[in-house]
Amino acid sequence: MTRAYNFSAGPAVMPEEVLEQAAAEMLDWHGSGMSVMEMSHRGREFTSIIDTARADLRALLAVPPEYKILFLQGGGLGENAIVPMNLVGRKSKPATIDFIQTGSWSVKSSAEARKYANVHIAASAAGGKFTHIPERSTWKLSADPAYVHVCTNETIDGIEFGDAPDVAADTGGAPLVADMSSHILSRAIDVSRYGVIFGGAQKNIGPAGLTMVIVREDLLGHALPICPSAFNWKIVADNDSMFNTPPTYAIYIAGLVFQWLKRQGGVAAMEQRNIAKAALLYDYLDATDFYESRVDPKVRSRMNVPFFLADETLNDAFLNGAKERRLLQLKGHKSVGGMRASLYNAMPLAGVAALVDYMREFERTRG
Ligand SMILES: *Cc1c(COP(=O)(O)O)cnc(C)c1O
Repeated sequence: MTRAYNFSAGPAVMPEEVLEQAAAEMLDWHGSGMSVMEMSHRGREFTSIIDTARADLRALLAVPPEYKILFLQGGGLGENAIVPMNLVGRKSKPATIDFIQTGSWSVKSSAEARKYANVHIAASAAGGKFTHIPERSTWKLSADPAYVHVCTNETIDGIEFGDAPDVAADTGGAPLVADMSSHILSRAIDVSRYGVIFGGAQKNIGPAGLTMVIVREDLLGHALPICPSAFNWKIVADNDSMFNTPPTYAIYIAGLVFQWLKRQGGVAAMEQRNIAKAALLYDYLDATDFYESRVDPKVRSRMNVPFFLADETLNDAFLNGAKERRLLQLKGHKSVGGMRASLYNAMPLAGVAALVDYMREFERTRG
């Protein structure tokens, strides 16, 4: 068996230690005589698994006590509907939601929200083909939106927010909602600056099927009557994410990843490694004319690095050569083209070094 370096944007690379532990525990979890996927979600064993996962996530992100952590299904796209169904009821009709469009995912979120409220695009980088974040001073926020939505890491376009933008001052205190699907746990964040943080697990955490929501308690209890009970955050919170069967196996794996992160030194230590990994690749991209990064250097994502060969007729040769070296899933998203290397927590520095070595070699032989 040889494990490849997997640069997929998601579902994506997992820590090898976690896969080994899951394999070792597959048939008999801790003497229970069962695989985790065979357990009742209400039994003692699984209750201990979900409680530990929740507590570990709270510790890793320093989630303040007035926030609930929910484990749901539905994915990031599901949340595009679930968030408005839970939050627009706080405002008298017709409610408005403000969106900051910085890439494909925030555009998708704004399109879905139109089913539930008025949508106001307070800022958009679409004119620049999503290669920058519009300056905060240019945002035209509405006076009283139900919330302001940002995607803090645009997986497809490779754009990342450093800090949480301060929106409350201009909006009468509207909560900030952040889609963090593709960089949650990759860097330290101040949870208290957000009303809601959500993310699908399959980018930086675990298997597809699990969606995490971190929500400030005062935002619960305002769901629209049409909101399905299983997606009503208040009901889910009151039932400790057990209103219906949660994605038990995905929660177990995510819990193993949380424990792995703690062994790595937590999110701050992970962030230092992610900075080093991203710098290795971006520094090389900046040093050559053979490849190119098109994203404003100030907002380049540490997690997802789209790049282009100056001579795009070499794209197939580049990808084939990469595959021969077991550097996998480097093809860019179809809407952007070129290449994309995703450098999630579980991608070791050695993987990025192997990629840069290959890129240098390819440049030398084909440039
Ligand atoms: C992948 C992704 C999504 C969509 O997630 P699904 O689980 O496929 O619904 C949403 N937002 C961001 C930022 C993503 O990276």
